[in-house]
Amino acid sequence: MPELPEVETTVRGLTPVLKGHRIGSIELRRGDLRRPFPPDLRQRLTGARVTALGRRAKYGLIETDRGDTLVFHLGMSGHWRVDPEEIGKHDHVVIRTDVGRRLALNDHRRFGSLDLVRTEALGDYAPFAVMGPEPLGEDFDGAYLHRALASRSAPVKALLLDQRIVAGLGNIYVCDALNLAGIAPGRTAGRISRPRLDRLAESVKTVLRAAIAAGGSSLRDYVQPNGELGYFSSDWRVYGREGKACPACGAAIRRRVDSGRSTFHCQACQR
Ligand code: ZN
Repeated sequence: MPELPEVETTVRGLTPVLKGHRIGSIELRRGDLRRPFPPDLRQRLTGARVTALGRRAKYGLIETDRGDTLVFHLGMSGHWRVDPEEIGKHDHVVIRTDVGRRLALNDHRRFGSLDLVRTEALGDYAPFAVMGPEPLGEDFDGAYLHRALASRSAPVKALLLDQRIVAGLGNIYVCDALNLAGIAPGRTAGRISRPRLDRLAESVKTVLRAAIAAGGSSLRDYVQPNGELGYFSSDWRVYGREGKACPACGAAIRRRVDSGRSTFHCQACQR
C-alpha cells in the first residue's frame, strides 16, 4: 500500500511532466474508483494549465490556473504510469499534455480516488478538514506531540496512526520511528517524557526523509524503467523484519498482531 514517501515521490515524478503544461485531454475509462469521479471533471480540466503540484498527507495535489486542484489518493494499489506504451485494463484515467506526454492512473483494486476541489477551499475538503499537521512540517515537533498526547491513555502507536494527530503516517513508518526513538509501541502516550517526544518527532522525520531519499536515489526522476511512479525498495528498520536483528541493539525483532495489524518492534531497547 502506498505510504507517504511513495505519494511524495509520485508527486516529484509527476512534476516535470505536468508543471507549466496544459492538460490536452483527460480520458475517464470508467466512472469511478472508490467513489464516482466528479461529473464535470473533464470539462473543468481540459485545457487547464498545471501551475503547481504538492502533497497533503497521502493525497497528491495537482493545481491548475482555473482555480481547481485535482486531488488524488492511490488507495491500496494505485500508481501513475508515465508515457506507457500501451493503455491496459487497469489504467482508469489517461491524461495527455499539450506536448504529447501521457499519464495513466492504474489501480487494479480501485480503492483510490480522484476529486476536483476549488483550490481556495482545499482546507474544507472533507479528509483535510480534521487532519493534524504534516509530519515533515515545522509545526510537528516534540512540543506539538507533548500537547497532542497529554493525558491520553491510548498506546502511542495507535495515536501516531490517528490522522487527526498527525497526517499521513501509516503502519510501516510508525513502527520504524518508534524503534529509532526507542519507545515501545504500547507505551501510554500521555506518560512519555518531553525529551523522548522530541526524539520521537525527529525519528518520524528521519524515517520518512530516508524513504523519500531512497526513492530518489534508486530511480531516475522517481520513475522506474517501466514508467511506474512511486514504488521503490526501501530498507525498513523493523517493519517486515521479524526475527532479524534490531538495528539499534541487535536483539531479535518481534511481531505482534493487534486487530489484524502487525506491529514490529524490539522488546530489548524499546521502552
Ligand atoms: Zn533493539
